[in-house]
Amino acid sequence: MKLIDICRIRVDQRSVDVEEDELATTQSIRHDVIVVGLGAFGSAAFWRLAARGVDVGGVEQFALAHGFGSSHGTTRLFRVVCKEHPGLTPIAETSLRLWTELSGTAGQVLIEQTGCLNAGPPDDDPVMGTALASETAGRPVERLSHDELVRRFPNYGGWGADDVALWDEAAGICYPERIIRAQVAAGEAAGGSAYPGTKILGIRRDGDDLVLSTSTVEFRCSRLVLAMGAWLPDFSGAVQLRVRRTPLYWFRARPGHEDDCRLDRFPVFIRKMPSGSELWGHGSGDQFGVKIGLWASESFEYTRADSLDRSIHPETDTRELSEEVARAFPWIDPTPERVVPCMVTDSPDGQFVIGPSPDDSAIVLAGGDSAHGFKHSGGLGELVAQIVLAEQLYCDAGFLDPARFVASPEAVHA
Ligand SMILES: Cc1cc2nc3c(=O)[nH]c(=O)nc-3n(C[C@H](O)[C@H](O)[C@H](O)COP(=O)(O)OP(=O)(O)OC[C@H]3O[C@@H](n4cnc5c(N)ncnc54)[C@H](O)[C@@H]3O)c2cc1C
Repeated sequence: MKLIDICRIRVDQRSVDVEEDELATTQSIRHDVIVVGLGAFGSAAFWRLAARGVDVGGVEQFALAHGFGSSHGTTRLFRVVCKEHPGLTPIAETSLRLWTELSGTAGQVLIEQTGCLNAGPPDDDPVMGTALASETAGRPVERLSHDELVRRFPNYGGWGADDVALWDEAAGICYPERIIRAQVAAGEAAGGSAYPGTKILGIRRDGDDLVLSTSTVEFRCSRLVLAMGAWLPDFSGAVQLRVRRTPLYWFRARPGHEDDCRLDRFPVFIRKMPSGSELWGHGSGDQFGVKIGLWASESFEYTRADSLDRSIHPETDTRELSEEVARAFPWIDPTPERVVPCMVTDSPDGQFVIGPSPDDSAIVLAGGDSAHGFKHSGGLGELVAQIVLAEQLYCDAGFLDPARFVASPEAVHA
């Protein structure tokens, strides 16, 4: 649907008499709260605000659940016990609760708890970080010795001599495009207004109003949520965010091993390899292939969202990962069958940026996904709604507050 059609429908709904040419240049649409970006974080915030009866508009530059930002590719790993920070557990649990409820309304599976293997040397990040998070959050995981690991997971290979693992049965996969669509639909059903295909070009203050310009109409609001993913650094310099090109990769099972590589026998994993590389991924399902990626690679270049290189370069994009896959997974053809560019938005400390902007407290920032944000996005949407409405927060969000970088201006990317 084109923007002009959307505007006409909304104008009709409000019984406002506006000439078409006037609509194209000067029409102003007002909501108490506007969320810019209906990706992972923004669609959740839009839904949670609308669910509270707030007059909220959600503006998205592309179609819903598009493939140009950070939330495409059919699946994302879901974990409740998170090596990235012990404080993330209540946020992931809130995503789990909200998406489980939403699955019923949407009539679709949005999340599946199929378990996750966190493996590697006992004193390295996947095992040590997960153990710390499990202990701090009081969510038990199963400890596997080296022998148990090798025996229980015969479809993985290339283990280091000391490798052990933690099995987290509450983890699994979630479905990003379905979740985004379901969250926007739930927000609209609760009275929110979504404007896909509408790019915000600029933001300015006009007294108590924040004014958002587009090529055709302007939006006005009292409070604003900027959930623009990889485009956030172009609009807010309050926190030093960096956009990293990080492709998604799918692989094929070697002939005769298709069943060995399905999700039930090849569950979600995070592995520190003997080489020092960290791999993540999961086996195939009815609607998706085997997915494997690297947490970090020198081939993941920093960029700007609008100038992202969307071509695939087999030598630089796949060489390092293919070598690791050949070592780690005996039943998988190490040449990826599909590679799709995607973007990570890194914050200086690897945690999200959720809270009032240091520049203007009427603006709430929701970004800095740092490559682990999808699983938390439902819970982050709930937090954003609470921050916007000055409600009591359901968990400690101090470690996500943009103000942490103002207090430590020397905080820069490692
Ligand atoms: C390769 C890869 C693998 C990952 N794996 C996992 C995983 O397994 N588990 C996990 O939890 N996380 C994972 N992540 C991270 C996760 O995907 C991100 O944290 C999440 O998608 C970020 O969501 P977002 O809302 O910040 O960005 P997006 O979902 O991209 O949303 C931002 C939205 O803002 C819109 N927008 C931007 N500018 C404007 C504008 N001017 N006007 C209107 N709209 C605008 C964009 O079009 C976009 O739709 C992975 C990321 C990558 C790249």
